[in-house]
Amino acid sequence: MAMVNKNISSKILRSLVRRTNSASTITTSRYHQTNKSSLNAATSNEFSTSPHPVANNTNIVTNNDNDDIFNFEDTKALFASVSTGKLLHSAATLNASAIEPMVDLSIWVMNSRLMEFRLFHDVVMSTIKYTAYDHFVAGGDTVETGKTVLKLYDSGLRGMLDYGLEHATDNDSCDEATNQLIKTAESTRFLPPTSVSFVAVKVTAVCPVYLLRRVSDLLRWEYKNSSFKLPWKQQTLPIFSENSPFYHTLQQPSPLTAEEEQDLELAHKRLMSICEKSFESNVPVVIDAEDTSIQPAIDYMTYWASVKYNEPQRAIVYGTIQAYLKDAGDRMALTKKAADKMGLPLGFKFVRGAYMSSERKLAQSLGVESPIHDTIDDAHNCYNGCARYMLDQVSNGPGGIILATHNLDSARLAALKAREHGIDKESGKLEFASLYGMAEAMTFGLRNSGFGVSKYLPFGPVEQIMPYLLRRAEENKGLLSSSSLDRKLMLKELKRRMKAYIGLKSENQFKPNSIANNRVTDIR
Ligand SMILES: Cc1cc2nc3c(=O)[nH]c(=O)nc-3n(C[C@H](O)[C@H](O)[C@H](O)COP(=O)(O)OP(=O)(O)OC[C@H]3O[C@@H](n4cnc5c(N)ncnc54)[C@H](O)[C@@H]3O)c2cc1C
Repeated sequence: MAMVNKNISSKILRSLVRRTNSASTITTSRYHQTNKSSLNAATSNEFSTSPHPVANNTNIVTNNDNDDIFNFEDTKALFASVSTGKLLHSAATLNASAIEPMVDLSIWVMNSRLMEFRLFHDVVMSTIKYTAYDHFVAGGDTVETGKTVLKLYDSGLRGMLDYGLEHATDNDSCDEATNQLIKTAESTRFLPPTSVSFVAVKVTAVCPVYLLRRVSDLLRWEYKNSSFKLPWKQQTLPIFSENSPFYHTLQQPSPLTAEEEQDLELAHKRLMSICEKSFESNVPVVIDAEDTSIQPAIDYMTYWASVKYNEPQRAIVYGTIQAYLKDAGDRMALTKKAADKMGLPLGFKFVRGAYMSSERKLAQSLGVESPIHDTIDDAHNCYNGCARYMLDQVSNGPGGIILATHNLDSARLAALKAREHGIDKESGKLEFASLYGMAEAMTFGLRNSGFGVSKYLPFGPVEQIMPYLLRRAEENKGLLSSSSLDRKLMLKELKRRMKAYIGLKSENQFKPNSIANNRVTDIR
């Protein structure tokens, strides 16, 4: 049996190695190219200490061997906490995801009428369950996800719990989603303290999307017309800057109806109950960002909850800044300044943003300037600038940052800056975050360099999580996709372990048992 397993493993490994060798020359050169171009972009504009992060220059050493963050040469140290079985499964899934025609065919099958046949549906679903789902999803419920958290925790990582929810349309679906989010927060009590870094919340799951659109319209109109009053508005922080997009609201919106006001009140209550449960469980909440048509309402509710729940020395509610937006830096600095005046610590998660094509399409259809930066380098600069600005801020005061990115240059720059400020894992001021099953080399590299690193853990039943899986499939497809560095390093490590195993086997033929047993850990 062991022999059969070994043969299967070596077959899989040989076929993976063949595929990667053909891809690795392209992958490596692309990796260096990307590295170089975005590093140039980052150093030309660099992190800024001004409220306009994109505009300033500072010098930072980014490629000094003495203080560099990542060591990708030593794959043994990098993947030390990953079992060979898990590594083999991850490498196989990521390599399969990279085969473009296969992913396209799978997506076609998933959307086809073939799925209406029970037997076919069940076969497809169980194939997905044991491949992509196992790789990208932390579990079906809080119990399974808790086990994933424990495994991550053992390997020096933490989890950000993200119950897989799509947009809610009415109060009933919002209530149901709120219950799930409360259960999620409660489940953290049964896990080791600090093993869960955040509970992720989507305001679109606790407030109907049509209402978020209405509230966003009204907030925009109020910003542009100071005499326009919003009787329902509660204490919050600045949501707009002068360069924020206002084209969504071309005419004065009608006031909220009594029913809409009631629904908004319900949404506030739902968010409050989630924050309170998280507060009781001692786990902060991070609120995701969506597209600009509804983001003002999300920011309004996020900052309202921050004012209510953040403690004098600790942010309990984190908002999200999308650095691909032209107004991101200005908006963040205005919000931060207003919070400082109130003595309120703020927490921000920084992402680049996930709605680039729909945002650009909408702006183009209206004949207005796109809210998205004109070039990817501008987006990189803005991301690095915002990160630097907040790192400087939290190094001298309370507040926190989540750097949610798979971009190595951004992670390296921020890690160097954090090190300069003495911000490490213990400080609780900075958490790097990446999606479960992605950017593993970066994750382990940052962990090995002493930083707090979390994996974003989407969880839920297979059918419910399918839209998320389809997005991951799109993102990882193609030899040059974002998983290319992971694929390359995982295979390098698998080859190393296989060689060590074979070497050990032949060595063991001539050694007494006790010595051989002591060497087994070498191939982990
Ligand atoms: C833990 C985690 C949480 C997340 N939460 C959110 C969230 O709440 N809201 C949300 O919107 N997204 C979220 N995302 C997704 C995120 O916004 C990005 O889409 C994704 O992570 C890729 O970004 P990156 O930093 O790895 O950038 P890279 O892979 O280096 O760059 C790709 C990104 O750059 C931007 N970009 C690409 N081309 C251009 C261009 N020509 N001009 C301007 N910009 C360009 C796009 O945003 C694109 O996604 C999250 C991601 C992670 C890892």
